[in-house]
Amino acid sequence: MPRRDSSPRPIGAAELLSIGSELTTGETRDTNGGELARALSGRGIAVLRIQALPDDLEVVTKAFGAALEQADIVVSTGGLGPTPDDLTREAIAAVTGETPAVDAGLEAWLRSLWDRRGMPFAEINLKQAWLIRSATAIPNHNGTATGWWVERPDGRTIVALPGPPREMRPMWADWVLPRLDARGPGREQEVRTLRLTGIGESQVAERLGESLLRAPNPVVATYARSDAVDVRIAARPEGRNGSGPPRSAAEVADAAEANVVAAVGEYVWARGETTWRAALGQRLDELGWRAAVVEIGLGGELTALFGDAAWLERSESRREGDMADAGPASPSTLLEETAERARRDARTEVGMAVRATERGSDMAVTVAVATPVRTHAERRLAFLGGSQGRSRAALTAAAVLLAELRRPDAETARPGRRSEATDQVEVRR
Ligand code: ATP
Ligand code: MG
Repeated sequence: MPRRDSSPRPIGAAELLSIGSELTTGETRDTNGGELARALSGRGIAVLRIQALPDDLEVVTKAFGAALEQADIVVSTGGLGPTPDDLTREAIAAVTGETPAVDAGLEAWLRSLWDRRGMPFAEINLKQAWLIRSATAIPNHNGTATGWWVERPDGRTIVALPGPPREMRPMWADWVLPRLDARGPGREQEVRTLRLTGIGESQVAERLGESLLRAPNPVVATYARSDAVDVRIAARPEGRNGSGPPRSAAEVADAAEANVVAAVGEYVWARGETTWRAALGQRLDELGWRAAVVEIGLGGELTALFGDAAWLERSESRREGDMADAGPASPSTLLEETAERARRDARTEVGMAVRATERGSDMAVTVAVATPVRTHAERRLAFLGGSQGRSRAALTAAAVLLAELRRPDAETARPGRRSEATDQVEVRR
């Protein structure tokens, strides 16, 4: 792994400081901490703590000091502005025992920004040209707050970035991350995520069992997300243990993944960060199909879930009342007819009709899917009513649709089943 001589310390652990009284008063929500934590965790760097701090020099200085005792890298956001309440530079100078001085290059750059706009340069801005001896400036192409990359004598690193996400993000992605990667992350890590549907988190946990969920390596954990129950496997390499040979992180992950799939494989619908829209899109692409959907009583949730997906030829949102007086036919039959009509009218291979009605405090969901293979309807129950129930009803519909598209006979229907309608769609493109 490439590692620069000047920074020999591997980065195993990080602490994050989100600085600004607007965070501790609740006026602004700290999104920077979570974003940075995600990027670091994904690289196998353990985030020990995320803190929000007020614009108070003593508090911030102490926080830097404490973080540097635990972590190999401390990343702060915020407090790099020109005003007296922006104190991050002062705090880092205090903790390193260095004295800030105006850097001539940064000053010239700052003054040029004001010159270009024909505005007088306020001396207060000079603070943004400060550096300490151990700091390297991190250029900010979207603002005036230059960041700091500070290397401590013991190899620990401080990174200070501005608070506004639109300034922070590119500096982090384009300048900081490449340097972290060059340094070599602390530990090799392999992360796999399996996305499940149709099963609750507690059931997943029960099936996986304590021995899998409590093992130190790999760390297997379940997460109830809004669109899936995720099982995340985070594996590190394993040295020679009592019986077996050393294993790479990927080998450790493979073994655990096989156990997870044996326990809950039938509920897995995607891997990684795949969304329903993307999973459906990928399958529809494979089949060369497009879809039209009609939702009834879902308040637009299904349309919102699919967004402006390229495979969605048409989507229609109807109120519940539109089906109420439809005569004696069973709801499933009516919905199958609606799905078939949607497919015909939009000249797509797939038509789907979904209807949700409140039942007690839950949602009864009927889903009908018409494809070149067959028309199929099923009824499900989505937990909770109201808008939560409607959004769960939309996810249920997506799951039924994906299952239909993944039927083995969908493959065989692919060639030669191109309808006239499809050809017209293609000519039109
Ligand atoms: P600037 O030079 O733009 O003032 P700064 O480094 O001083 O940069 P702050 O003054 O701390 O940044 O924050 C400016 C704005 O950035 C905040 O009002 C808020 O909108 C946003 N912001 C700051 N910190 C965070 C955070 N942790 N998460 C999300 N947004 C943040
Ligand atoms: Mg500020």
